[in-house]
Amino acid sequence: MKNTSLFIAILFLLLFSLLQTVQVSSFTQRNQEFEKSASSRTLEQEHEHAHEVHCSRERSRAAWKIIEEYLMPFLEQEHYEMSSKCRLHPDNDLFRDQEQHKIHLDINEWQCGYCKKSFRAEKFLDQHFDNRHYNLLNVSGSKCLADLCGALHCDVVMNTKSSKTKCNPAAAARNRHLCEGLADSCFPINQGPSARRLNELFLHQFCHAHTCSRKHKHFPRGGKKQLSVFYLAISILTLMLLPIFYLIVYLHQREMRTGTQDLRRISKVGQKTKPS
Ligand SMILES: [Zn+2]
Repeated sequence: MKNTSLFIAILFLLLFSLLQTVQVSSFTQRNQEFEKSASSRTLEQEHEHAHEVHCSRERSRAAWKIIEEYLMPFLEQEHYEMSSKCRLHPDNDLFRDQEQHKIHLDINEWQCGYCKKSFRAEKFLDQHFDNRHYNLLNVSGSKCLADLCGALHCDVVMNTKSSKTKCNPAAAARNRHLCEGLADSCFPINQGPSARRLNELFLHQFCHAHTCSRKHKHFPRGGKKQLSVFYLAISILTLMLLPIFYLIVYLHQREMRTGTQDLRRISKVGQKTKPS
């Protein structure tokens, strides 16, 4: 019995140290993120007078992320091609070309795909695009994807709106109108069954939540499944723990068996000595 308890104690120690390393690594990651944001703030101060584009790169990126995650998988399922007249089409994102020329080499290394210059953070690369590759933006026409943020719930994804802010019925109605307009222009119901299905899906996924009643969820149909670090860690831990659990059960049962054998031996000896 002593052997098993010692073994279990060692196992728990091992597990504890493993958990500690996981925690430490997540802390250093958070630290790096903090450093990154701090350095980007100083850069922002330096480049206050960059070229002015009246379209937010950050919000356009959020809008694109939402389209990519919560709409594109369904378009692929239906093999549906959006027309370039639809404002959700990639061609109508002012920053799409630049975003596609971002090369993420390492956690702290971003490279410009046009001139191969390297940067420590994405924010620096954004600034570089604004300063050096401004001419590549087609600023004519209304191609700002960020303008659709109201319809696409960018605030939910960017966490910029606190849940405590009071719902404004007029704003909700405006966003719903914009949203329904997108559904009709991108997926005209008279263009066949898949367009009709996608129109319905778009209304369900994005437009119905534009209400103050809080009855409707954002993106109820879900999006592309992303393997998060948390789930990865949990599954690795489970895989490691399972054999250990079986080993403990096995050792315990073996000891029980030897224990009963000992008892039998003792009782046999007792029986033998009884008659005399
Ligand atoms: Zn460059």
